[in-house]
Parts: sequence; C-alpha cells; structure tokens
Amino acid sequence: MGDCIFCKIIRGEIPCSKVYEDERILAFNDINPEAPVHVLIIPKAHIDSANYIDEENSEILAHIFLAAKNIATQLGVAESGYRIVNNCGEQGGQTVKHIHFHLLGGRNLKWPPG
Ligand code: AMP
Ligand code: ZN
Repeated sequence: MGDCIFCKIIRGEIPCSKVYEDERILAFNDINPEAPVHVLIIPKAHIDSANYIDEENSEILAHIFLAAKNIATQLGVAESGYRIVNNCGEQGGQTVKHIHFHLLGGRNLKWPPG
C-alpha cells in the first residue's frame, strides 16, 4: 500500500501526533479536528474500508474498540461521553481509503450527523 497516506504514517514517512500505539494499531490526533478530542484509530495492516472486514481480519475491531475506550479514559472524556465513527465509501464520507475510526469528544456532538 505504497501511496496510502495512513500506511505512510504507520511507516513513519509522514509525521503524526501519536496518542497510542501497539503492535497492531496506531492512534493519532486528526489533523483537522472536529472536536476538542478527535483521534483516529487505525489498524497497522491495511484494510480499505468496512466493506473489507471478513472472518480473517474482524478481530482487529474488538482491539480497536478496547483501545478507543482506554484512550477516551486517558483523554478525560469517558465520563462526559464520546462518539466512535467509521465512514465507509463515498456517500459515507470516507476520504482516506485505509479503515479508521474517529474518536470524538469534549463537546456536545450533534445527532443525527449531516
Ligand atoms: P474520513 O473522512 O472518515 O476518511 O476521515 C479522514 C480523516 O483523516 C479526516 O478527518 C482528516 O482530517 C484526517 N487526516 C487526513 N490526513 C491526515 C494526516 N496526515 N494526519 C492526521 N489526520 C489526517
Ligand atoms: Zn493503508
């Protein structure tokens, strides 16, 4: 996945503001934050989108959600509340084609989204 921007971040070719990392995932601050807390959580193994989740790779989702809860706690929004968002495909608003989960918090988030 040579020209995938998130794979480049994982390889250290593009800098990021890292929040959490382990052998399977990386979490970093969104470059264009929509809320006081806006972290992106991504698997290190490239997956295009939610459409490419299968029996082989779906276990990473549990790992990502556990990390999201821990990051929310660490950043002080677990009690106040937060939102985990995955955009999939064009009409879902996905602009980076490496699956990622937005962790948003620190303000009242509107629902439903636009
Ligand atoms: P989505 O629209 O769901 O595909 O979200 C992509 C997100 O990636 C957007 O919120 C962007 O602001 C964010 N983004 C794009 N490039 C970078 C980068 N180099 N570092 C951090 N966040 C980025
Ligand atoms: Zn990638």
